[in-house]
Amino acid sequence: SGSASASTIKQVKLERESELRIEVGSETPLKLRLLNGSAEIFGSELAPEIWLTFPSRLKFAVFTWYGATIEMDGTTETDYMADETPMVSYVNVHAVLEGRRNRAKTSSPNDSEASQGPRVIVVGPTDSGKSTLSRMLLSWAAKQGWKPTFVDLDIGQGSITVPGSIAATPIEMPIDPVEGIPLEMPLVYYYGHTTPSNNVDLYKALVNELAQMLETQFAHNAESRAAGMVINTMGWIESTGYELLLHAIDIFKANVVLVLGQEKLFSMLKAVAKSKPNVDVVKLQKSGGVVSRNAKFRQKARAYRIREYFYGLANDLSPHSNIANFSDLLVYRIGGGPQAPRSALPIGADPVANPLRVTPVNIDQDLLHTVLAVSYAKEADQILSRIPFWCSNVAGFIYITDIDIQRKKITYLAPSAGDLPSKYLIMGTLTWLET
Ligand code: ATP
Repeated sequence: SGSASASTIKQVKLERESELRIEVGSETPLKLRLLNGSAEIFGSELAPEIWLTFPSRLKFAVFTWYGATIEMDGTTETDYMADETPMVSYVNVHAVLEGRRNRAKTSSPNDSEASQGPRVIVVGPTDSGKSTLSRMLLSWAAKQGWKPTFVDLDIGQGSITVPGSIAATPIEMPIDPVEGIPLEMPLVYYYGHTTPSNNVDLYKALVNELAQMLETQFAHNAESRAAGMVINTMGWIESTGYELLLHAIDIFKANVVLVLGQEKLFSMLKAVAKSKPNVDVVKLQKSGGVVSRNAKFRQKARAYRIREYFYGLANDLSPHSNIANFSDLLVYRIGGGPQAPRSALPIGADPVANPLRVTPVNIDQDLLHTVLAVSYAKEADQILSRIPFWCSNVAGFIYITDIDIQRKKITYLAPSAGDLPSKYLIMGTLTWLET
């Protein structure tokens, strides 16, 4: 490998209950299609004979329940067959969830308890396949006509919108193996950092906001209440990370906790659930196909996510470059900088005055290359508030491409032309170098 190779067409025959694991090469995309039989990618069925084009570096598996022949055109980093997968146990979980959805659907909508479908939370260390399992459960449910809500609490490697955000969106169709989660109108809260330790209280506050917003929506929508939700979490499962998991389980009233690939976490959560009779904690095996990603890869993946937000996966979006006066935009940050550890402060001192304080940011060169969220707020004190209406979620994002101090002009990239929905912008520590 390494040399430029001519495109190669290759056919692979898969036996029942086996999968073809693929890492697309780093230079060129890979084309793939189903020749015969049936197969799915992370829960989403392949249409026969239609070529799909997978972007470079994508890692995925084509799984078949009954056998299939796959054709590939292009180069891969690796591709190999595996007949040992945890898929049967995953689909068994799906069957149990399906039963609960049906029960919820047939019970009286006035019985708020019984008419609530499963609320599943997927937990486990980094690279245990949480996002992938979430995706399968959602796609299998959507295939059967449900519209489950996907909640992504992973601010590092989330799959709904730009990093640094937590978000939720209904899944109405099996998730496209290439395009991923559809981006129409997700409910997004901007935390602004890629690790919760920057401001744990803010992270928790936003999780609370999201949960309450969904609760309100569910109260008025029996269909989505019965379909339930699938919550994907971060891979941070130690100390504060563990506390944040418990917090999420509580606040979303999760009743199914799926623990991937870690005995210790499973037994800890199992012990906690003893006092909660209606919470099932289930241990599931991690798939051998899950690819570990190092810090550099994760950093790159974040940059691609931001790029995708503005330009689309296949460069199919055309973002707009806009120029504004400094005075047209109001930039705020929430909380201070990174919190000082308690141990570094005098005894009795409060680590941060107020982690939820919204403070104005001076527009200067520091804003260059930052990704800012566009708030719905009409005043600064609405940025994190529910009053007079829900506006702590954000409308979208802009990217600062130039700061002209002399002329007091800001140039920024936005998904579309026209005025921003609000001049209140939220800044964190998220930056991006457009390449
Ligand atoms: P993190 O906590 O970092 O978000 P995660 O636990 O959510 O990680 P995934 O994102 O689900 O892990 O999986 C890691 C990578 O492995 C992804 O690129 C995913 O597409 C790939 N992957 C998962 N399962 C398989 C499989 N069976 N075959 C090939 N690749 C896979």
